[in-house]
Amino acid sequence: MVVSSSSSLTKRKKADALILPFYLEKKPAFAAKGLVSLFEPVLKSGDFSGKKDEILCHYPKGGKEARVVLIGLGSEKELTKEVLRRSYASAVAFLKGKAKTVNITLPESKSIDVTTGAAEGALLANYVFDANKSEKDKYLSTMTFIDPDEKALKKAQKICESVYFTRNLIFSNADDITPTFLGKMAKELASEHKTLKATVLGRKEIISENLGLLEAVSRGSHEEPALILVEYKGNPKSKELSALVGKGVTYDTGGLNLKPTGSMETMRDDMSGAAAVLGTMHAIAALGLPVNVIAAIGSTENAIGPKSYKPGDVYRSYSGITVEVSNTDAEGRLVLADVLSYVQKKYEPKRIIDIATLTGGAVVALGEEVSALMCEDESLAGALLEAGDDTYERLCLLPLYEEYNAILKSKVADIKNSGQRKASPIQGGIFLKKFIGKKAKWAHIDIAGTAFPDSLKPYHPIQATGVGVRLLTQFFAKLTQ
Ligand SMILES: [Zn+2]
Repeated sequence: MVVSSSSSLTKRKKADALILPFYLEKKPAFAAKGLVSLFEPVLKSGDFSGKKDEILCHYPKGGKEARVVLIGLGSEKELTKEVLRRSYASAVAFLKGKAKTVNITLPESKSIDVTTGAAEGALLANYVFDANKSEKDKYLSTMTFIDPDEKALKKAQKICESVYFTRNLIFSNADDITPTFLGKMAKELASEHKTLKATVLGRKEIISENLGLLEAVSRGSHEEPALILVEYKGNPKSKELSALVGKGVTYDTGGLNLKPTGSMETMRDDMSGAAAVLGTMHAIAALGLPVNVIAAIGSTENAIGPKSYKPGDVYRSYSGITVEVSNTDAEGRLVLADVLSYVQKKYEPKRIIDIATLTGGAVVALGEEVSALMCEDESLAGALLEAGDDTYERLCLLPLYEEYNAILKSKVADIKNSGQRKASPIQGGIFLKKFIGKKAKWAHIDIAGTAFPDSLKPYHPIQATGVGVRLLTQFFAKLTQ
């Protein structure tokens, strides 16, 4: 897809379609009000008023475009970036399959970053994943934005490309997106950007480094596990380092506590945290943000085999804490625990954010609209919540009260990995907290509900939203200000 810009409506080139935004009462939201006379009959018909989510396609005689899509933005006073994302996404969704090229007019606003809102909505809605289809999906090949904020447009494009990258990894077959493949992707990213350096540890090193929990989970699969480390130095003068940790379970059968039919078919999505971490590194390197980040991904399949780790057995973590495996399907926290400990020991980051499709309980509690955040540091939680609101990859803060520790008490080890169903997303957080030392601020984000929804969202496809990339990129962009 080509994304370009034109300095004004009068200078725009011919295209298959034009998108024009309106506020309530059919008030044009764009600069060239003269254009309105073209649609007088449409506007007089009463079929379109400019309400939020309203859309109407008109076929004018003459003009530079065969189709003009009027979109409603609702009240001018209540305009937000999210209203723009949704409105432009619905226009693009409408045009996919009908048009190839589109001219996109933006509303005028002094308070809202209209370019980012409209561009994110339009670009994210134009995504297709048709690698496994004989008949290819249709999408818009050229989007021309009229008089955008050029800097914001370039930034939005880079971020959306990173979301595409993440979605592609999640959508693809688990047979292809193995831990080894994710390691290769990390190295490819590093070869594209001088500021990135990638290191991949395989089974041998995972054993010799005593990453006992990651190794235990990986045993049932013939696929080589990987600890993938990607370092980004955007601010070499500063010693301040942030860590991003992602869960990269490339297929989760549940292990010997096998998942039933109906619960396993989506389990190639269990590396969505890892994909979001790689996508974020892709974005921050492309944007050249002046921050230093170490990304660490624990990647393995959770499969069944003669060497599978066993419910009831006790395994020793990298940190030395022993864990009774009460459920092999609570494998993500085992993988993350070792990676969190490893990153703290080797890199001493100031703050750590982990992101994972960790618990079905997060889906039960919060549905597909918001991810769960667990964080006891007020400033880190505040910054993440703000980035969530700004990007609409929203977060809901859950508590980590010490009373919850009782759920994970083990009679035979320091801790067990899963309790009853009570407070299931919090159990994940409580477990991981055991592996966080005193030095780093830490936040845990559970994206089990938001990473792979089974309903269509305005600018997300069904499944593989790429959630986390825009959120974390925004978090790091703000960190630099
Ligand atoms: Zn699992």
